[in-house]
Amino acid sequence: MLLSSGYFKRHKTKKRHRSLSALILSLLFAVSLFGGCSADINSAESSSPNGEVTPPEVIVESPGPVEMPAEQEVPEVPEIDFNVVKPNELGEVMVIMYHNLGDKNTDYARTAESFRADLERLYEMGFRTLPLRDLVKGNITTPAGYTPVVLTFDDGHITNFKLLEDQTIDPDCVVGIMSAFAEEHPDFGMHATFFFNGGTPFAQKDSVAFKFNYMLENGMDIGNHSFGHEHFKPLSAHEVEAALGKNAVQLKKLLPENYEIDLLALPYGERPAEGQRGTLIEGQYEGVPYKNIAILNVGWKPSVSPFDVSFDFASIQRVQSGDGHLQLTDWLDGYAANPDKRFISDGRADRVAIPAILSEKVDLTGFEGLELLEY
Ligand SMILES: [Zn+2]
Repeated sequence: MLLSSGYFKRHKTKKRHRSLSALILSLLFAVSLFGGCSADINSAESSSPNGEVTPPEVIVESPGPVEMPAEQEVPEVPEIDFNVVKPNELGEVMVIMYHNLGDKNTDYARTAESFRADLERLYEMGFRTLPLRDLVKGNITTPAGYTPVVLTFDDGHITNFKLLEDQTIDPDCVVGIMSAFAEEHPDFGMHATFFFNGGTPFAQKDSVAFKFNYMLENGMDIGNHSFGHEHFKPLSAHEVEAALGKNAVQLKKLLPENYEIDLLALPYGERPAEGQRGTLIEGQYEGVPYKNIAILNVGWKPSVSPFDVSFDFASIQRVQSGDGHLQLTDWLDGYAANPDKRFISDGRADRVAIPAILSEKVDLTGFEGLELLEY
């Protein structure tokens, strides 16, 4: 027994990262049941609140009509009381930068105990995890009145995801802690992005496949941190392409075919010289192209909202973990004193709700199908 049954229960409910082959199989199966009528297939599909198309689940043993799972029904979202929720989807979003867990708290390490306390405080203060991809796509599925938070972990350290000798997940590694926390607080979610360099992800070579599979099934993501943790500043465009492209190729070999390596955390937060920077966004290595949709800095402050006119997907600020000046604890203290600075969701992914006084700051260019509501 590798994991507690609780893990598997959660696996079953996660559909986001259904593999392409499973999707194709489901569709093919649906085609055979519906006699190949494409109109029926289309009507059997539905968009989830975050806009993804979910294929129908076919229940073979049912003698009656094909049953659709509950998630096919898109529930009516009740309108919020704007004066109570006070949504501000132009507020700040923290993209938190962690590295490894360790025996004591430093700028780069956090103890397991402090990491748990961070999650607890974020939860209590109304933060809910959001995938990085959803942030940059403006797909804010965070419930009304809550604030999205993006968790990131650089360098693929073993303390991020470690299997013990009996092949169970170390309850004191990041994934073990987040998984246990999500069991107790399912609405917090366990979305996080882990950024890797070349070499064995999480430093346990026999368990990479299990770990990546577990992560994808639980809404966690895998991103690029360059092959050799290079300093980008002195590199030529070609060298940057090699550092990013080679790593993307290696990581993709360990992942399902349809999984894109399109999230980048800059090593040391360094950028190549002006003129060479386009290769951070796209390039190719040995004929294999890569394209990044989010590029993260090594920062000291929250990101602006993706709907803010100054948002730049190629330069997203992060907040460093820790208790020092301008580190996570400091920002949380700040939000406790000034709660109106943070992003407050209106609970609808298809609508951007902002106080009318901020109307000059909003820019929805590039986001499709979003309705703007000023109040
Ligand atoms: Zn790093």
